[in-house]
Amino acid sequence: MALFKLENVEDLYEIGEVLGSGHFGQVREVRERATGTLWAGKFLKLRKNASSRLGIERKSVEKEVEILQTLQHGNIMAIRDVFESRAEVVLIVELIRGGELFDFVAEKENLTEREAIEFLEQILHGVQYMHSKRIAHFDLKPENIMLSEKAVPHPNIKVIDFGLAHHFEQGEEYKSISGTPQYIAPEVINYEPLSEATDMWSIGVITYILLSGMSPFQGDTDGETLKNIVDMTYEFDDYHFKQTSDMAKDFIQKLLRKEQNERMTADECLLHPWIKPLTRKQAATRNRSSINMKNFKRFNAKRKWKMSYNMVSACNRFCRLQLLCKPSIKVDEELRQCESDQEDTETKPETLLRRRLSSSS
Ligand code: ATP
Repeated sequence: MALFKLENVEDLYEIGEVLGSGHFGQVREVRERATGTLWAGKFLKLRKNASSRLGIERKSVEKEVEILQTLQHGNIMAIRDVFESRAEVVLIVELIRGGELFDFVAEKENLTEREAIEFLEQILHGVQYMHSKRIAHFDLKPENIMLSEKAVPHPNIKVIDFGLAHHFEQGEEYKSISGTPQYIAPEVINYEPLSEATDMWSIGVITYILLSGMSPFQGDTDGETLKNIVDMTYEFDDYHFKQTSDMAKDFIQKLLRKEQNERMTADECLLHPWIKPLTRKQAATRNRSSINMKNFKRFNAKRKWKMSYNMVSACNRFCRLQLLCKPSIKVDEELRQCESDQEDTETKPETLLRRRLSSSS
């Protein structure tokens, strides 16, 4: 069992504003008292006992921490320290100030494929590095791709949230049915063995969305989305892809393959002519083609709306529960817990895919 520091995190760090929330708690800005340096603190509520469904299992946190400690790369969020109390584990990680890549892109007037590739290339470098260590992320999606700073000429990508990541042992077969419906590969839905190629599928989906503002397998319900993925029902419709180069489509097609061994690896992606043009003509095409900004802005607005809707409804449910049971509970405490409540109240089969409770072997 990994040992985390047992000191009170607040003795060493001053806890600041909320930066974001996840299934098991909040991420807050924290200031190291000794040096004044700013970090981010990921506060994770621990599951009280084996029968409880609230909170995260300690061994899942250990797994996330071990993986983060293995990864040291400029495009991957760094970890500094871990504290543990009876009810909570706090990960002290690098503070990422630039927000989500997709929000940054959505604020632009226009973006050429070449500019989009600058970001994609960094994602691929981070993923290439983790795959070289036999670590797969298994939850690559826009929410987990951030920028360290945005007011700089060339913002630096940071991949975050290794809560579903896995470190493969030699010859190990690993299955898991977790992830987010829009971005998961067919083998996840079919509960087949996963591999690093499972991440490459998600990169295909992210690239498709980035270029067109359309989500390739999105159905009206999660169930429909999952069916579209298994059936491989997607296309490059002329209307949304009229500004997209053939090289970009070829890149996506080589990732959205049902067979894992037919998908490009991160190494191969970095050598694809769309990413690394071999001729002047290929380079020029990337400058001429642009992303479908109007549709991308629409996609992103809808995505943000859905995220805040999920958050507000989860918090409302939690507050109602708390008012009934413990009218004196402090508001701050409520907010720290509301995501754990969301975790426990979703029971539809499709939503299991968004949860960390799902089985893995
Ligand atoms: P999920 O339930 O989505 O898997 P989680 O509980 O594992 O989430 P994260 O995804 O790691 O939590 O973080 C939740 C949110 O907090 C992120 O979407 C992001 O907005 C913010 N965040 C996470 N890490 C950082 C960081 N290092 N710096 C700044 N903000 C961060």
